[in-house]
Amino acid sequence: MYSESTQNLQNNHFVGLIPSVVKAAEAKLPTKYGEFRIAGYRSLTSDEEFVVVYKGKLRTNEPVPVRIHSQCLTGDVFHSAKCDCGDQLQRAMETIAKEGRGVVVYQQQEGRGIGIINKIRAYALQDEGADTIEANVKLGLGIDLRRYEQCVEILCDLGLTRVKALTNNPDKIQAMRQGGLEVVERVAIEFEPSKDTQKYLSVKKFQMGHLLNLVTS
Ligand SMILES: [Zn+2]
Repeated sequence: MYSESTQNLQNNHFVGLIPSVVKAAEAKLPTKYGEFRIAGYRSLTSDEEFVVVYKGKLRTNEPVPVRIHSQCLTGDVFHSAKCDCGDQLQRAMETIAKEGRGVVVYQQQEGRGIGIINKIRAYALQDEGADTIEANVKLGLGIDLRRYEQCVEILCDLGLTRVKALTNNPDKIQAMRQGGLEVVERVAIEFEPSKDTQKYLSVKKFQMGHLLNLVTS
């Protein structure tokens, strides 16, 4: 049984601070992308749990590919074509497998933090023509409630100091930098928009500032 203790916190922003997450369990995870490890972290300040899938040597000066992936049940599990979340997660796993090291922090803040039921309500409004932001506003919910500090703390707990951020979301890059990680490079994870994702992706680019090219062939 894995004892609940915090790992080394040297070389990062969290040195000397009281940890707000703790690793609670760790095991091997064979996947279709090869061997990974999986760990579960608990927040010490809320009831949030985090799942981390990782492989290879992480305590290194080489930049390590990392993705903070925000849970998208519809995209990750059911392969919804309304968004590109599932594709991004798979691309991140493939990239990590190819490089032989890397980390995915799976953050369970579904629907940009509004929860799955509200996300389905928002989808119902999108069926009537609202876009992803308008739907949240009509429901009286925030546009993006996600927080990344604890995800970054987990990356530091795993020993990371220099990273290649696998993301299109500038907020995630900023959170990594504020948490003391050196973001050496951003690796875009972009897919050609489909008729289902076109509107969603253009709202992400033009209203939420995501780093997307939206190139179609
Ligand atoms: Zn999604």
